[in-house]
Amino acid sequence: MQRLHARYPFLSAAREAVEAADVDLVALVQEGGPAVERGVERVRRALLEGTAESEERLGARAELLSYPVARVLVSLVDAPGATEKYARAEAALAQRRFTADFQEERSLQSGGETLSLQQLLADFDLSGDVRPTGDGRFDVAVTAYLRLSSGLEGEHWRLVRRTLSDGTVPVTSDELETLLREAVRERVADGLPLNVPDPIADALSEEVGRLRTAVADADPPRSFAEFEVEALPPCVDALIDRARDGEDLPDNSRFALVGFLAAFEELDAHDITAVCGFDDPERVRYQLGRLRDDRGVAFAPPSCATMQAYGDCVNQDDLCAEIAHPLSYYARRTEDGDTDAEADSAAD
Ligand code: SF4
Repeated sequence: MQRLHARYPFLSAAREAVEAADVDLVALVQEGGPAVERGVERVRRALLEGTAESEERLGARAELLSYPVARVLVSLVDAPGATEKYARAEAALAQRRFTADFQEERSLQSGGETLSLQQLLADFDLSGDVRPTGDGRFDVAVTAYLRLSSGLEGEHWRLVRRTLSDGTVPVTSDELETLLREAVRERVADGLPLNVPDPIADALSEEVGRLRTAVADADPPRSFAEFEVEALPPCVDALIDRARDGEDLPDNSRFALVGFLAAFEELDAHDITAVCGFDDPERVRYQLGRLRDDRGVAFAPPSCATMQAYGDCVNQDDLCAEIAHPLSYYARRTEDGDTDAEADSAAD
């Protein structure tokens, strides 16, 4: 496996190198190791930081194999927009690398580990669609231009704003690199999410749980249309019970409880007062006014880590091990549509 394949794992040649190596993906993920760890890093950094870059240099084999592992992981994470974010991050990393490689090619310093423009164009079947004009610019066939620019924002990408000459659109080298980044993004996104066989999903369940936790921690849902009592996390259930029993909750616990309930659009101060059995509706109204912004969107209440620190994380169940925020718990319960079943088993 060549270093070039590891740097550009989406290339046809890289895919062929993986096939030729006859790697057993089930055994690879069951054994774990650098390829799996790097696969987790690819997805985690893509979803949280927008880059698939590695923080350390790995061997070519582990780096290359981490790509199919990452594709499996992002499919299993199954978070909204995850595959698109992942594909964008891989494409951005590729663009950074091939831009540097093309620069070396222009300065005639390229070596065996660099990718030439002609190699990249050939891999994407674009050799006949892109022609250098000799002044550092390129003519791109209009059909290829339209396909590759369709996901780009900015008026200047629209065909009506471009010069169209003899079925081609002139572009600068920077613009061509952006169009090629789009080609990479399309290829990375192609086929995602994958249908992952059970043995692979089982072997990666711990890594997927950690990734889901990281994603939920970074961006818990902020609002819900409907309030379903059966889907409440155990900590919130417990806080409601304590409030209804007449306990004067400590400020942090009350803030956590009202903050959580503020995420439900259908609940106003009167409803929250009734749900919790509070006897001070004006205080609830005041708290709610500070917890929701002008558009009614709630600020996120405390995460599980904070709830634990204050001793409000109680009666954890199995789902608690997979999430990092009480709002994520509620989202997962209602998404899975298993509120009744889970509530029943929790009551057993
Ligand atoms: S883990 Fe989170 S959701 Fe579960 S009980 Fe603790 S704070 Fe609540």
